[in-house]
Amino acid sequence: MHDLLIRNGWIVDGSGMPGFYGDVAIEGGRITAVGRVDGRARRMIDAGGLAIAPGFIDHHTHMDAQIFWDPIASASTWHGVTSIIMANCGLGLAPCWPDDHDALLRTFIRVEAMPRPVLEAGLPWGWQSFAEYLAAFSARLGVNVGCLAGHHAIRRYVLRDDANKRTATDAEVGEMVRELRAALEAGALGLTTDRNPRHAQEDGSPLPGHLADDREVFALAREVGRFGAGAIQAGGNPAIPPVSWYGDLSLHSGRPVLWQAINHRWGAPNQWRDDLAATDAQFKRGARAYGLTFALGIESVRVLSPYTGGFEELPTWKRVLNMPSLEERRRALADPALRPQLRYEAVDDPTPTVFSKRWDMIRLAGARLPEHQGLIGKSFAEIAEAQEKDVIDAFLDLNLKEDLEAPFKSLGIQGDPEAVGEMLRSPHVVIGESDAGAHTQNFATYGYCTHLLGQYVRERRALTLEEAVHRLTFAVATLYDIPFRGLVRSGYAADLVLFDPERIGTEEAEWIADMPAGYGRFVQRARGVEMTIVNGEVLMERGEHTGAYPGRLLRNAVVEARASS
Ligand SMILES: [Zn+2]
Repeated sequence: MHDLLIRNGWIVDGSGMPGFYGDVAIEGGRITAVGRVDGRARRMIDAGGLAIAPGFIDHHTHMDAQIFWDPIASASTWHGVTSIIMANCGLGLAPCWPDDHDALLRTFIRVEAMPRPVLEAGLPWGWQSFAEYLAAFSARLGVNVGCLAGHHAIRRYVLRDDANKRTATDAEVGEMVRELRAALEAGALGLTTDRNPRHAQEDGSPLPGHLADDREVFALAREVGRFGAGAIQAGGNPAIPPVSWYGDLSLHSGRPVLWQAINHRWGAPNQWRDDLAATDAQFKRGARAYGLTFALGIESVRVLSPYTGGFEELPTWKRVLNMPSLEERRRALADPALRPQLRYEAVDDPTPTVFSKRWDMIRLAGARLPEHQGLIGKSFAEIAEAQEKDVIDAFLDLNLKEDLEAPFKSLGIQGDPEAVGEMLRSPHVVIGESDAGAHTQNFATYGYCTHLLGQYVRERRALTLEEAVHRLTFAVATLYDIPFRGLVRSGYAADLVLFDPERIGTEEAEWIADMPAGYGRFVQRARGVEMTIVNGEVLMERGEHTGAYPGRLLRNAVVEARASS
């Protein structure tokens, strides 16, 4: 008797091969048959023509802390994700000395915009080694969780207070390599590091890994190669270091490298083409240096008071918004003599900036005054046209009436769907940059898988359904050496998602207060995801958690092979 038999589905099996009608049988947490399957089952599910795919693997998350208070990894699992990988961008919570917890919190708070009180209230601590950390969060899991070895944490563990002050001695590099080895032996799915110069610790000081020279980074990468499983994820800033450096890292280690990131930005709208060409060149060298990209436009929510950033590159805006008192800021923003300069910097100045200058994509997200309720959701370009005003006047006048507290959304990264579609088609990019668990106060990007399938498969036909599912599942399992996951195939783990290809998509971000210490965060819900199954048990049904906790720790292929032999 099968534990579970799912009948009449459109099976998109993760291999990239054409979808087909059939049934999937499950027993003991594994898929036991795919095709036309008979026999009795403890539970029968009629898929009614819905797509049955392997559960999605969100490989770029920062759920390292959240997984303790939210073992189902919401809102990722609402979107069909059945496995997450954490400790990206060099950031990890192990190894850690018992008297050094705060040092690791400081690495997360600013880079990932995680409020300190949330981390302080939500983390149980109690571990020192990487293996102890894995055991701590694995005690109860709804979703499968893999963990990478974070360079910042390892460097802090070995160098303590010198970690973000100097390069390491050869002996210290040797110590770090031993700590990495211990993490890999415990099951780590690889190494993560970061050189992004915009990243900093809570107090503005550099992150530990930023002091590492090439000798150190290459020694660590080499150890992943020697171990023989896992990937290397490396954050940077496009051009720092150059893409060829990631190619060198891959050739030196023999492992796949996922570098961050190839993205479209309105301030430099063709940069992604150069980055993609540089990435293609690495594959010609025989290096596996994949550029990470994202399917979802990153729409940040910001306010002018208390100022949450976004205008740092515009000198007059920066000066005014950082004035100490609200009264001074109000006066400056209302001053008609200042408006032409503000307008020039935010609209006309051709200097490339991360700030988009696209007022047709900067939208009012909320308002207190009754007269503004009807404008919520509209862009400031639309509002200005309706009010027959200049766009900067429309933006500032409305904000002044709202005491500068009206939230607005702006689509900065991946805002041009044509460009995104082209990026997604490249075999040299890896899809997934959700940062799930991070940036909780500014935006929600949990839904990139559902958005990919809705926007770029159904609406824009940039990818076939089979290709998109493959990229979200088996391709990721292959890169990270996760055995027996990511395919609908006999013998594979029964991680599945049932969805309606005609409806699948992502809802707008919404705010919910469900974090420790009473904090809220942005989440987004999915459309068209009917069910997720983890290790043969139903985890989510129509967006609701069933109460099951079937998740497991994902360990690399070397450790798994040893355990089963
Ligand atoms: Zn990240």
